[in-house]
Amino acid sequence: SQSVHRTDVVIVGAGPVGLFAVFECGMLKMRCHVVDALDMVGGQCTALYPEKPIYDIPAHPAIEAAALIDRLAEQAAPFAPTYHLGQQVEKLTRTDEGRWLVETNKGVQIDAKAVIIAAGCGAFGPNRPPLDGLEGFEGTSVFYMVRRRQDFAGKRVVIAGGGDSAVDWALSLSEVAEKVSLVHRRAKFRAAPESVARLDALAREGKIEMVVPYQLAGLEGADGQLTAVRVATLDGEEKAVPADAMLAFFGLSMNLGPIADWGLNLERSHIAVSLPGCATSAPGIFAIGDIATYPGKLKLILCGFSEAAQAAHAIHPMVHPGEALHFEYSTSKGVPGA
Ligand code: FAD
Repeated sequence: SQSVHRTDVVIVGAGPVGLFAVFECGMLKMRCHVVDALDMVGGQCTALYPEKPIYDIPAHPAIEAAALIDRLAEQAAPFAPTYHLGQQVEKLTRTDEGRWLVETNKGVQIDAKAVIIAAGCGAFGPNRPPLDGLEGFEGTSVFYMVRRRQDFAGKRVVIAGGGDSAVDWALSLSEVAEKVSLVHRRAKFRAAPESVARLDALAREGKIEMVVPYQLAGLEGADGQLTAVRVATLDGEEKAVPADAMLAFFGLSMNLGPIADWGLNLERSHIAVSLPGCATSAPGIFAIGDIATYPGKLKLILCGFSEAAQAAHAIHPMVHPGEALHFEYSTSKGVPGA
């Protein structure tokens, strides 16, 4: 079993607001651990619109969402946060010491004085196809993202989906895989015209097998190892496509999930907080960013930044009791390592 991490603050969610909370806590000498269901930091900015410019970040007339996240991660870095990515916070338990034990679905346990929930609209996760026995293959031969292209070298890969991710990975993996089969329920793909043209060319050359119009119907194999993917037409006509691995690209969805079970005051899927400080109904638990609600709340990144500062100041006396907090500007303090 893994040991329990001990820290000042656990931040649930590494979106823009969670990242800025690391900075605000850091300025007040509070160490943070950050957990996110996604494999990357950045929340909605990274997962939904990395290349879109944002126009309402103060002092940035325009900044691409991915660039904003890079800058926020850079701003947090001097405070050496520990990131636990690719895992969801499932349980929050009050300890006898009056602290909180945070547990993830990967078995990571973090004991902290305070928790900041910056969970947006809930945990991001892939949309999973409804196939019998799917869990038994996930992570071993069924995947929702490519970590390393080389993992698929020499393999027979079935790719399912009709958007950019499915098409782009079919093109890319056709260079290293033994065989790529692309399954989509329509003959038309929702992807960049240039990519679709390349797909058509590779299909004509026999480098990519087009399995259209078909839907996923089942998985064959044992002990986590796929041998074939069964596909069916809308009329129910089935066939098996031999495969060593399957990649499914059906998009991401957000799920409030376990947050609803933490006994906090919820208002229509948002956590009700009181101002100033963004405290929830549970002592030591704070909520900021899109997940938090109060009268007059605006769901904007810049409001989330301000809430991060408020929560950090509210938490300070819990982490450093008796230590007077003389309000100072960042310019007078300086940032470690900067
Ligand atoms: P999020 O960005 O949603 O991040 C929350 C993170 O928490 C996610 O990564 C999620 O996986 C994680 N999480 C949730 N629950 C758990 C759990 N239990 N365990 C582990 N991790 C968990 N805002 C603006 O201000 N200006 C704009 O121009 C603008 N344009 C936008 C355009 C689009 C297309 C969209 C979709 C949004 C836009 N927004 C804009 C809104 C902005 O992106 C959000 O306000 C912002 O992302 C909220 O940040 P956050 O950190 O609160 O939450």
